Amino acid sequence: MRGIWPYGQDLPIARDDGTTGRLFGGRVGKDDPLVEGCGDIDEAVVDLVRASAGEAEAPSHEQVASRVVAELLPPQPPVVEVGACAPQPSSGSALVGHDGSMSLTDAAYQSDPGGPLDLDRDLYGRIGSMTEGRELVDSFVVPIRSGRAWEVPAGHVCRIVTIEGPQVADLNLWNRHDPRERLWAARTRQLQSAHVSTFDRLWSTLPFLRPLVTITGDSLEDYGVDEEGGRVHDLLGTRCDPYVNQMLNDAPFDYHCHSNLTRAVRPWHLTEFDVHDVLNVFQCTGLNERDEYFMKTCPATKGDYFEFFAEIDLLAALSACPGGDLSVPMFGPEAGDTEAVCRPLGIEVYSVPDEALAGWQPPQRAAYAQDHGLRARPWA
Ligand SMILES: [Zn+2]
Repeated sequence: MRGIWPYGQDLPIARDDGTTGRLFGGRVGKDDPLVEGCGDIDEAVVDLVRASAGEAEAPSHEQVASRVVAELLPPQPPVVEVGACAPQPSSGSALVGHDGSMSLTDAAYQSDPGGPLDLDRDLYGRIGSMTEGRELVDSFVVPIRSGRAWEVPAGHVCRIVTIEGPQVADLNLWNRHDPRERLWAARTRQLQSAHVSTFDRLWSTLPFLRPLVTITGDSLEDYGVDEEGGRVHDLLGTRCDPYVNQMLNDAPFDYHCHSNLTRAVRPWHLTEFDVHDVLNVFQCTGLNERDEYFMKTCPATKGDYFEFFAEIDLLAALSACPGGDLSVPMFGPEAGDTEAVCRPLGIEVYSVPDEALAGWQPPQRAAYAQDHGLRARPWA
């Protein structure tokens, strides 16, 4: 099989054992329908270019691309406006190909059944539901416009609770024993989704790449997607910070989430360089029709909770956002004083009964050996 290579040459294939490589591992037979499909398109593109070569002027890349789109690719589904209560695509949706194969608009990062993204729902459902045998080992209040950090031992659960009413929270997570391993919001968006809920996991940075926590409880899990495209528990955005505040509002303010988290982790000898992109708990966000990030009023009410299970020993830190319930804009000409819409948050850490943990194993760091191609490799 020959593939189109972006530098004007045929993609070299080093060996021919009747299979061809998959980008992320494994090989498939050349008669695999996927390979045949790609091969058909490649051959047709080559035909187009050859046909064009006989024309008076060589076609531009744009002309070839537009002819490929017009002549070779199947028609695209109609674009549905955001806010029109569009059906949300998911695995098994109408976006799957006619023959039941995976669509390129399905999730890009997937594992095989039983693989690392195939969660044991019996186990984590049990951990989340067996609340009777739990023992409270730590609890405290995060006052308005402040941050706190605390430890969550592996095998324990932690709840963040809206003890007085709607309030958004900015969460950071580190390996308690190595702060270089911390929440990786961007990869979590890809491995899970841009908003998370029960049975999603929050993944750590390279070179560790393992679940730091698994979400085992969420009283807002049925919120879904609202009429404006908003969803809760947001990984799209990040913490508010005094630098962007100075830039946009031309004013200093020392109690943004970045500063609250910075103060919170000082007892652990961490600094603002350790503060990282957050999970915005209870925060309702989305992208508008211009693909811009929006934040809506927090839909939580008093007593709502978000609960996660610690897969390894964790240091957690939380900021009670100075934007409070986000009902008042923080930036721009409509920005106002948000203090009146700020409320404290409760933190509870529980041990989990042994019977709920049966079958649980702490996750190992990623198996990749970190060679990065630095050792010479004979390609020929
Ligand atoms: Zn904030």
